[in-house]
Amino acid sequence: SSEKLDLKSLIRSIPDYPKRGIIFRDITSLISHADGFKQSIRDLSAPYLDKGIEKIVGIEARGFIFGGAMADYLGVGFVPIRKQGKLPGKVVAQDYSLEYGTDRIEMHDDAVASGEKVLLVDDLIATGGTAVAACELLQSVGGQVEGAAFVIDLPDLGGVSLLKERGIDVHTLVA
Ligand code: IMP
Repeated sequence: SSEKLDLKSLIRSIPDYPKRGIIFRDITSLISHADGFKQSIRDLSAPYLDKGIEKIVGIEARGFIFGGAMADYLGVGFVPIRKQGKLPGKVVAQDYSLEYGTDRIEMHDDAVASGEKVLLVDDLIATGGTAVAACELLQSVGGQVEGAAFVIDLPDLGGVSLLKERGIDVHTLVA
């Protein structure tokens, strides 16, 4: 139907996952709803229809679900950013800090060409640590990050502000 759905009502909150005190925002209930999934792809893509995006870059793992569908909808290619050791070809890597310790994300070194206009996609932005590392990785190969799109923003954690401070255009659907 053409009725606008309330996407927020289709996202479940699961208390005490992955540890006590954390409320996990679970998008599996959104993507299993045909019209909810379709609307989320259209709404996430809307600001970028005329931006000359050449690649969608999705962050493992839920960024693959939304990013893959957006790449099809926008008629562009898809590039995965993965956790360390998962990609078979030659990679470029970016380390970033977590609450305790560090983590590393990787991308094939030939996946994004210098000057190419890319759109970064993930399901959720919290502290922004993952998204900032992904932007740095893309910019390290000369990629032009035209924007970053997320289904869910946890605004109290400051990730969107962090990206905006770095000059990245951010688009989110649900807070
Ligand atoms: P950040 O790096 O702190 O912004 O955390 C964002 C990353 O952690 C994204 O890749 C999310 O998929 C994941 N994440 C953090 N919290 C949640 C949540 O409540 N639900 C789903 N994913 C989450």
